[in-house]
Amino acid sequence: MEPLTSKRKVIESKPLNFLERAYLPAILSGLRITGKHFFRKSVTIRYPEQKREFSENFRGMHSLKRDEEGRERCTACGLCALSCPAEAITMIAAERQPGEEHLYREEKYAAVYEINMLRCIFCGLCEEACPKEAIYLDGDIVPSNYLRKDFIYGKDKLVEEPLNQ
Ligand code: SF4
Ligand code: SF4
Repeated sequence: MEPLTSKRKVIESKPLNFLERAYLPAILSGLRITGKHFFRKSVTIRYPEQKREFSENFRGMHSLKRDEEGRERCTACGLCALSCPAEAITMIAAERQPGEEHLYREEKYAAVYEINMLRCIFCGLCEEACPKEAIYLDGDIVPSNYLRKDFIYGKDKLVEEPLNQ
């Protein structure tokens, strides 16, 4: 076996000429690149003042839907949580009490429904799994935040506004 040292390439450093020592070629080359891009159409936008148009297939923030009478559609069946590959959904089911028929569509509802937006990969499987058409990823981009706990979205952020508001 050949010794490792024999494969090493010897690099000879050439002395810099006057222009190179004055950084002139490098500065001119940098200016040429800057000038080339200066007059081109910018590829960036001033987000969040400007927003790009989303594709029709865009999946954004989830919303929990109400029916035509304003009642929550979700029946806390848990299929969305089961189908979630990121284990991002947590829920606690509760039984509807007499007098709550105007709030919840069926006997069971989600007393707690939380999505961890840091875990979510926006695959849309929860939407596909839902038998009640109760969850859709039809919202905007999840806004940035500083604390992990602020990315846990509960019903206050997920359930859509009642009809009369
Ligand atoms: S979009 Fe996908 S990852 Fe996000 S909560 Fe739904 S199933 Fe889970
Ligand atoms: S959102 Fe749909 S799938 Fe998820 S618990 Fe509610 S009814 Fe079931």
